[in-house]
Amino acid sequence: MVRISGALALTIATHIFKRKDGKNVAEMMPRKIYLGSIFDPKNGEDIDEAQVVFFRHPKTYTGEDMVEMYGHGGIFVSEKILDAALKKGARFAERGEFTLRAFLNGKIDLTQAESVLDIIKAKNDEFLRISLKNQKGELQNRIINIKSKLISILAEIEVEIEYPDEDFNFVSEEKIKEIAIEVRDELKAILSTYKMGKFLREGFKIALLGPPNVGKSSIMNKLLTKNRVIVTPLPGTTRDLVGDWLTVGGMDVLLMDTAGLTETEDLIEKEGIKKTEEFAEQADLLFFVFDGTRPISPKIRKVAEVIAIKKNVKPVINKQDLPWEISPLDVEKIFGDKYVPTSALTGEGIEILKKIINDEVKKRLDIETETVISNYRHKECIEKAIEALSEAIENAQPPVDIMSINIRRATECLGNILGENVGDAVLEEIFSNFCVGK
Ligand code: GDP
Repeated sequence: MVRISGALALTIATHIFKRKDGKNVAEMMPRKIYLGSIFDPKNGEDIDEAQVVFFRHPKTYTGEDMVEMYGHGGIFVSEKILDAALKKGARFAERGEFTLRAFLNGKIDLTQAESVLDIIKAKNDEFLRISLKNQKGELQNRIINIKSKLISILAEIEVEIEYPDEDFNFVSEEKIKEIAIEVRDELKAILSTYKMGKFLREGFKIALLGPPNVGKSSIMNKLLTKNRVIVTPLPGTTRDLVGDWLTVGGMDVLLMDTAGLTETEDLIEKEGIKKTEEFAEQADLLFFVFDGTRPISPKIRKVAEVIAIKKNVKPVINKQDLPWEISPLDVEKIFGDKYVPTSALTGEGIEILKKIINDEVKKRLDIETETVISNYRHKECIEKAIEALSEAIENAQPPVDIMSINIRRATECLGNILGENVGDAVLEEIFSNFCVGK
């Protein structure tokens, strides 16, 4: 589909499209599909048969006139259609420019624009659901509602500042404080959803750690039920991070295999080990894998002891199909936890690992509230608004001017979420993450 937005959209269409019914393109009814041909404006030759729709502003995605042309598809012919439009005065859209224009023309607020990107990038059902809600205005309406409470209190304060001597039924510091506390609590409740929202946005990360050749890649392959990682009998062959997604309970789980945890002179290996440590930091759950046929070396014990301190580590002893040399009691002592015996060869224990993953995912999916934030920008703005309200609450005494300043600041922070007074740099940052054509 080739999409044109702007005042010249229909004019451009008249220069590159002819209707099959022979009637004037400029007289197309809005939102009606017309069959015809796209032609090269240079020589009048047909490029493709296409269906074309005209959308009249302001009831369009961007708020501007728009034309959409549906050809047969295919890169070469689509490029020729684009080229024809470019020859007649169109230009290529920037990343996310259609959505940016929708925002600038007041069709949507910034939270809705951001949700469009979230919808496109969603990797699981739950994140798609909250993104869709926010795109329809869930977060926007919540914030507008909260903001209006603050604005009405501000209006009352203004009256008091303007007419201090009037024996007016003015607002008391106590009343302002009460409302500020109520609003702050509401914002805190929204803020508390960020952790889960971020989790849904990024997915669940699991790292498989352990020395080379213990069977990490094999276990990962078994969990993924497809051969993503190349397994070789040479130690240290999984040189870089290898990752793949696995679906557990409707939630995508990123499973990472890492370079083995041994010290070595090999630079690539060292790089890999650094990445392993970095990844362990980010992982929601770690499996530390041992080879049951080998006793734990002092080096590995050291690393294991370091990793064991991290919260979510589950020890795994692999190669259960072979006679063991390892002391399972030792492993349990290091981790203070029961180990999972597995065999990547026979598949034993793999279901237990899947259950552990499932339980961990479930623990994080306790969705009570309807408004969920997952965006760092929203989190920051809400935190700043809470801070401003806290200052207002602390200064709940006459004169009300100081309270007023802080409450105004809180409303501005909330306005920022909606896209009010955000600078070009912020917009550029947001829309540069979109792809062209969105
Ligand atoms: P990694 O370096 O930890 O990723 O280990 P790999 O998954 O590459 O496995 C190293 C070697 O051990 C390969 O030859 C695998 O076939 C073998 N292996 C892995 N898991 C098992 C297992 O449970 N039983 C047996 N017998 N061999 C295994």
